[in-house]
Amino acid sequence: MDDGSKAMCCFCGEYGVIGSDDFLSLLVDLPHGATQQLWAHGECLRRVVHPSVPMLPPGDE
Ligand SMILES: [Zn+2]
Repeated sequence: MDDGSKAMCCFCGEYGVIGSDDFLSLLVDLPHGATQQLWAHGECLRRVVHPSVPMLPPGDE
């Protein structure tokens, strides 16, 4: 088991497996050219993003 393959979901605080289909990387552009990488379950991301915003992660379809 590779301990480095998990990251914390930035919305629910639980760990997910990096590389799994429903655990997504979010790259946030910060001032001065910095970036921060966050991770989120697809389900958590769909829950917090406003319904009017189109989301690429597959839903129930
Ligand atoms: Zn989550």
